[in-house]
Amino acid sequence: NSTTLRKPEWLKTKINTNQSYRGLKKLMRENRLNTVCEEARCPNIHECWSERKTATFMILGDTCTRGCRFCAVKTGLPNELDWGEPERVADSVEIMGLKHVVVTAVARDDLNDGGAAVFAETVRAIRRKNPGCTIEILPSDMKGDYESLHTLMDGEPDIFNHNIETVRRLTKRVRARAMYDRSLQLLQRVKEIRPNTPTKSSIMVGLGEEKEEIIQAMDDLRAHHVDIMTIGQYLQPTKKHLAVERYYHPDEFEELKKIALEKGFKHCEAGPLVRSSYHADEQVSKTSAQ
Ligand code: SF4
Ligand code: SF4
Repeated sequence: NSTTLRKPEWLKTKINTNQSYRGLKKLMRENRLNTVCEEARCPNIHECWSERKTATFMILGDTCTRGCRFCAVKTGLPNELDWGEPERVADSVEIMGLKHVVVTAVARDDLNDGGAAVFAETVRAIRRKNPGCTIEILPSDMKGDYESLHTLMDGEPDIFNHNIETVRRLTKRVRARAMYDRSLQLLQRVKEIRPNTPTKSSIMVGLGEEKEEIIQAMDDLRAHHVDIMTIGQYLQPTKKHLAVERYYHPDEFEELKKIALEKGFKHCEAGPLVRSSYHADEQVSKTSAQ
C-alpha cells in the first residue's frame, strides 16, 4: 500500500475548538472519562457537543482486547473494572446538558459478561440523573453471549446499535475477531427480547467493497429486522491502519441512502462524515413514532 489517495475537498474540515469545547474536554479528563468524539478526532464534535447536545462515551476503559484494523483505540491488557464509572458518566451527561447520549465500550473479551453489568448500570445511572435524555447503546458483539445481551437489555436503552462495520467478504480483514453472522444474530435477538427497541447498524465504505456487496449488507440487515442504517466514509486513522481504497462522492452516498430507504429502513444517514452516532438524536423520534 505505497500509494495514498488524496483526500477530496469535502472531507477537509477544521475542528472548531472554542472555549466551551475546551471546558468540556477538561471535564472529561477530571472525571477520567473517554469519548469516541475525542478519540476518533471526529470532525462533527462541535456540532454534536454544542449544538445537538449529543456525545458518545466509551466506557470500560480505554484499552480494547481486540485490534480491529480500522480502529484507533489502543489494544492491550484491559483496565480494571471501574464501578464508579456509571455515576461519573451520568454526572457528565447532566453537566453537558445532553439530549441524546450514545454509550459504547471497548470489547472486554476478558470478562465473563463482556462488561454487560457495568454497561447496563451506566444506562440506569444516566436515566436516573437525566430523565429527559435518550440513550443509545453501542456494544461489541459480547461474543454472542445471550445472557450478556439480556443484561444489556435490562437497562432498557432507547436504541440498540451494533455495527457490522463492513460487508461480509471484508469482515475478516477489517475486524478479525468478529463475525458477520454473529453480529446479525445479535441484532435479531434484541428484537426477540424487546421487540419495540429500535435497532441500528453502520458500515464504513472505502475499504474495497463493491456496490452489490453494500446492497447485500442492506438486505442482510433488513432480514434481521434492523430499523436504522448509517453509512460513512472510512478514514485511515494512522498509517498502520488499513488504507482507504476509495473516496465516495457525496452523490454516491445520496444514492445509497435512497436504496436503503427503499429497502425498508425507517431511517438512514449516509454521507462522507457520517458516523455511527451522527444525528442520532433525530433517529429516536423517527423510529419510536410507531
Ligand atoms: Fe461524537 Fe458521534 Fe458526534 Fe462524532 S458524530 S462528535 S463521535 S457523537
Ligand atoms: Fe475498536 Fe471496537 Fe474493534 Fe475494539 S472491538 S478495536 S474498540 S472497533
